[in-house]
Amino acid sequence: MHGSRAIGIMGGTFDPIHYGHLVAAEAARTCFGLSEVVFVPSGNPPHKQDRQVTAPEHRFLMTVLATTTNPYFRVSRLEIDRPGPSYTVDTIETLQARVGHDVGIYFITGADAVMELMTWNRPEAILRMCELIAATRPGYPPADIRRLRKAIPEADAKRVHTIEVPALAISSSDIRARVAQGKPIKYLVPETVEHHILKSGLYGGDLTAGAGAGPLSEFWRR
Ligand code: ATP
Ligand code: MG
Repeated sequence: MHGSRAIGIMGGTFDPIHYGHLVAAEAARTCFGLSEVVFVPSGNPPHKQDRQVTAPEHRFLMTVLATTTNPYFRVSRLEIDRPGPSYTVDTIETLQARVGHDVGIYFITGADAVMELMTWNRPEAILRMCELIAATRPGYPPADIRRLRKAIPEADAKRVHTIEVPALAISSSDIRARVAQGKPIKYLVPETVEHHILKSGLYGGDLTAGAGAGPLSEFWRR
């Protein structure tokens, strides 16, 4: 059985990572006394086949840049380095084996993502391995554990927890749209992430224009 130590896992596409992710992870860490929170950028997200996801190395780098100032946050390359589709159930299994079976695992999501749990691969196995923390997310209804439990009996109130986090109506989709439209993203993402987006010309932003952007800049814009 699990001892007293527990870690959090925050999965996501992080395309790009933003303050909503960071606030939810920090709230989960402090509410549940987690020793650390591991951010796991997805390699090949099975849920996001409808659009071109930014290259994993950019998303990994932005996640590292965003988390450096928090000593309790770490970033794992696990899903990025694993070929094939990324399934949360495999990630949790691998991380559990790495940290040891006496360490408890909490998987942190937003209210929107936890309600999609039944569409994930082997949700009942996920709930046997870890507990879930669903953070409130503006614009989405709060996580309804009773509805979840109807679909997955393992999703009882002892395994799925809800937490209130300071409301940040930020999404990666909105940030991508803002960059494409030349709108500011300052104060929505850490400054280092903002700089990386603009410097690399991610999301169709053209903000490197006039700043020496030439053929070489094109080379890195992938
Ligand atoms: P996209 O708009 O591309 O779907 P996103 O902002 O939802 O991006 P993801 O990488 O899909 O970001 O989300 C990773 C996890 O973070 C999910 O569990 C999601 O619910 C949660 N999350 C994202 N934004 C917030 C937010 N503002 N507040 C709380 N949780 C959030
Ligand atoms: Mg999302």
